[in-house]
Amino acid sequence: MIVTRFAPSPNGPLHLGHAWSAIVAHDLARKAGGRFLLRIEDIDGARSRPELADDFRRDLAWLGLEWEEVPAQSTRLGSYEAAAQRLQDMGLLYRCTCTRAEIAALEPEIGLEGAIYPGTCKGENFDPSRPAALRLDCEAALEGAGDLFWEDENAGTIDAVPCQLGDVVLVRKDAPASYHLAATLDDAADGVTLVTRGEDLFIATHVHRLLQELLGLPVPRWHHHGLLLGADGKKLAKSRQSGERGWGLAEMREAGEDGRALAERLRMGQMPCGITRSRFPHGGS
Ligand code: GLU
Ligand code: ZN
Repeated sequence: MIVTRFAPSPNGPLHLGHAWSAIVAHDLARKAGGRFLLRIEDIDGARSRPELADDFRRDLAWLGLEWEEVPAQSTRLGSYEAAAQRLQDMGLLYRCTCTRAEIAALEPEIGLEGAIYPGTCKGENFDPSRPAALRLDCEAALEGAGDLFWEDENAGTIDAVPCQLGDVVLVRKDAPASYHLAATLDDAADGVTLVTRGEDLFIATHVHRLLQELLGLPVPRWHHHGLLLGADGKKLAKSRQSGERGWGLAEMREAGEDGRALAERLRMGQMPCGITRSRFPHGGS
C-alpha cells in the first residue's frame, strides 16, 4: 500500500507551489490505490498561525483533492521528547547555546542549506543560564550507522551524506523538535511509504535517512519533485514584494477561480502565465 502525505507548516498561506506538491502526492497515492495524508506541521513556535490550517483544508478541497488528516505535530510532542532522549542516551546529542549572530561571527562554511555550524559547543561546558538547542553529533552518529543509501523515484539510488549539513539541530531552543526530527518520526508513525515533497528538501533527506537508522524506523522511498518558479526564476515564496502577483491559493479561491480546473491544467503541464516548472533531477527529461 502506497501512503503519501502533504505536510504544510501554518506559518503563511499556501501558494501555487504548495498546490503542485499536494497534487503530486495525492495523485501518486490515488494511482496506486493508496492513501494520501494531510499533516499540519505546527511546531514552528512564534511563526505558527493555527487558524491557517482551516484555510489549508479549504484550499485542498477547492483543488478537488481528498485526504485523510493525521494528528498535527503539536499533539505529538511526547514522541519527539522520547526520541531525543534516546539519542541523548546514545551520546549523540550535544548542547549548543550559540545564537545565529554568534555562528555568523565565526564565519562558517556556507553549505547548500546556509551556514554549516562549526561545532563550537561540542565537548564544551555550556552556560546553563543560556537557552540551549540540541545538535546531532553527525560524525559520531555516522560511525555507528555505517554506509547508508536511499531511493528516490526521480533521482535514483542516493548515497546518504548527512554530515554535509554539519551537526544539525534536532531539538530547538523554542520547540521540542526541529523539522528534521519531527518530520522523520511522524512519517514513520503515520506509515508513510513514499515521502513526496519539493526538491528544495532533497538535501534534508540525507539527515532523515540517518535518523531512521539511529532510531530503528522503517525506511520509506522518496519522491522529490521539481518546483514551480516565478517570473524571476526563483521558487515561489510565502512572502512577496508588494505589487507582485502572489499565487496564493486562498486569494484565488476567494476570487472565484475554479480550483479543480487549475489542478487539471497543472497536471497537464499548463502553467499559468509567468510560472515555469523546474525539472528534477536537473537535466532529466
Ligand atoms: N512542513 C514542511 C514545509 O512546509 C514540509 C515538510 C516535508 O514535506 O517534509 O516546508
Ligand atoms: Zn554552539
